[in-house]
Amino acid sequence: DPRLQAISDAIRVVPHFPKQGIMFQDITTLLLDHKAFQHTIDIFVDRYRDMDISVIAGVEARGFMFGPSIALAIGAKFVPLRKPKKLPGEVIAEAYELEYGTDCLEMLVGAIPPGERVIVIDDLVATGGTLSAAIRLLERVGAEVVECACVVGLREVKGQRRLNGKPLYILVEPR
Ligand code: IMP
Repeated sequence: DPRLQAISDAIRVVPHFPKQGIMFQDITTLLLDHKAFQHTIDIFVDRYRDMDISVIAGVEARGFMFGPSIALAIGAKFVPLRKPKKLPGEVIAEAYELEYGTDCLEMLVGAIPPGERVIVIDDLVATGGTLSAAIRLLERVGAEVVECACVVGLREVKGQRRLNGKPLYILVEPR
């Protein structure tokens, strides 16, 4: 697909951000490139429009930059999976491991009735820890996680193409 090259080219690589040794994949430059951004949304929409998906669940914060456009185009709801203490009311939470310490994702209770078919979206998958927490969170409320989708995926994760037994769909590898 020739669109994938344009998407890859539009992602800026920033060495040593946010700390020494990290090659940060900056998708804000993809959002600045209308054609490449449109291609990104189109590819996901073409893939998910006929899969009977009722929910796009986006991971804070960069999953919020792609998820709503996809949800609107396929006629699904958008559900934000947020960092702790952002959502009002009753939430359920799932912790996950970071390189140093742990973090947590939260979802509002009642956002997704049991049996809904969900796609989880984020900008990038590295170890898969974040997406695994998202899958656990959704499965606890009885949702069916059909697939996880990311714009960028590290080669190792891309190679296995699965997370917690769920399919993983990735557009490009980091440069
Ligand atoms: P994982 O949990 O190890 O798979 O890391 C993925 C999470 O870290 C995602 O929520 C990403 O947004 C974030 N992340 C890690 N590295 C990068 C990067 O280079 N660019 C943008 N986000 C990143």
